[in-house]
Amino acid sequence: GLCLLSFMRSFPDFIVTAATPSCSLSKENCRELAALNLNLNISFSNTAKASQDFGHMYHDRPSAIIYPSSAQDIVAIVKLAYFSPNNLTIAAKGAGHSIYGQAQALHGIVIEMSSLKGIEVGVHGFGEAAVPFVEASGGELWIDVVKEALKKGMAPRSLTDYLYLSVGGTLSNAGVSGQAFRYGPQISNVLELEVVTGKGEIVICSKHQHADLFYSVLGGLGQFAIITKAKIRLHHVPPKVKWVRAYYSDFSAFTKDQEMLISQGRENSFDYIEGSVLVKGKDVNSWKMESHTLEDVNSNVTIESDAPVLYCLELTKAYFERESNLIGKKLNSLLERLHYLPSEVSIIDASYLGFLDRVHDKERDLRKSGLWYTPHPWLNLFIPKSRIIEFDAWVFKKKLSGGINGPMLVYPLNRNKWDSRMSAVTPSEDIFYAVGLLGYASPRSAPTAESLMDQNSKILYFCRTKSIEYKQYLPHYVNLDEWRTHFDRLWPRFRERKLRYDPKAILSPGQRFFFLEE
Ligand code: FAD
Repeated sequence: GLCLLSFMRSFPDFIVTAATPSCSLSKENCRELAALNLNLNISFSNTAKASQDFGHMYHDRPSAIIYPSSAQDIVAIVKLAYFSPNNLTIAAKGAGHSIYGQAQALHGIVIEMSSLKGIEVGVHGFGEAAVPFVEASGGELWIDVVKEALKKGMAPRSLTDYLYLSVGGTLSNAGVSGQAFRYGPQISNVLELEVVTGKGEIVICSKHQHADLFYSVLGGLGQFAIITKAKIRLHHVPPKVKWVRAYYSDFSAFTKDQEMLISQGRENSFDYIEGSVLVKGKDVNSWKMESHTLEDVNSNVTIESDAPVLYCLELTKAYFERESNLIGKKLNSLLERLHYLPSEVSIIDASYLGFLDRVHDKERDLRKSGLWYTPHPWLNLFIPKSRIIEFDAWVFKKKLSGGINGPMLVYPLNRNKWDSRMSAVTPSEDIFYAVGLLGYASPRSAPTAESLMDQNSKILYFCRTKSIEYKQYLPHYVNLDEWRTHFDRLWPRFRERKLRYDPKAILSPGQRFFFLEE
């Protein structure tokens, strides 16, 4: 269980002493930990819980879990690993919603970031240049960040579809959803970070100070530093939204409309723009939206069509109570320009938070049915705009027209909202599509985890053989060459940054970078 290390006088035998090829927490390490004389919460038993994640496929067990109460605790642990001769590794774990063990550390230390608390709303700068922000600890969940900001009538400008993810976890990737076309991913909305590097140095960084470290960490897959605090930009938001779904059978019309909408300013467009693929249900005219959004919003629609799949455009427009009379008219004028199937369009009212937290209701259902706990071999890709029609023709219309037992997302993003100094990589075209293939393996019947994984491999193989300049989002690779290809011309920069900030390759070993092999 939990013990207060400063009170430990002797070390139980079950502490890993066997030498492992990768790393181990030796008796000596434990002695060093104790010598730090911190009131540190550390657990050497029950470490199996840090060998789980949402993917339910990887189970790398650490030797210890640490529950820090301050950034200084993290500094001490990282310094210990840095000066240890034992190749000790450390994974910061946020909400543990990775798929392929990215927040795990085999025989190493997992830092449970959720034990660092703190969310505060404030204002950055003065006068005209003043920017409202929320400062949150790295382990805080976005749902709590949003709730705190909404108390002041504000919200982060860019969020993820699901909010029970940690600030540090999504900022280590990118954080994309239907607002990213306008405001960029979450990593484009960070004003300042407090981090602990792989050398155990605590640094406050922003685009004005220690800018290289700041940009390294954003989308840095946990490779350079542990995010202990982030200052995130907010904006004022209305309390209500109109939530629209419109359906298409023609992919080209669907993507043209999406691309038109993401090119417009706020007044002439929506606040949130996503899209998904619908597959045929059991009834001839019923289409299944394998969506992770609210059940009661047309998860099954009846449309006459002999198309292999349909597409759903999902939009919101936020409004204030005082605009209630005008919003209908405004929506109509925006919808008039679109080319969806006229028979079906759904518009519902939701609170701003109700909409943002939409996936949570689905989570409850999935927990009940057990699907939350089955393997989830998800594949997320960024596909250049010029190749998305080809991708649709083979992947959605042919390969996946029977569905994947989970949502299939497809929506465009503007690359100019991504700062190329950040570590996250995208295709080079001005517009690229976020494609999410979010299948849930079924415990009893198809699809199995293996069949979903096999499908993923075939899709990646298709992209490679067709020379589509795709990028995996939330990437998972099993060898160094694949990582080199992923970063392409940015690989030397990524590698240099690693050598600068985490030269002993201590941090986030679950990303499987194999730096020491080079
Ligand atoms: P973890 O799994 O805990 O960690 C992820 C990685 O970041 C690990 O390598 C870990 O070591 C590192 N890390 C964690 N905390 C820190 C820290 N404080 N400092 C440095 N490194 C750290 N993503 C989107 O972009 N958009 C979505 O809409 C979206 N929806 C999702 C819905 C569901 C149901 C799920 C399961 C995932 C979704 N994701 C989405 C993916 C999600 O953003 C990533 O899986 C993210 O890593 C999850 O955050 P986490 O806190 O669970 O991270």
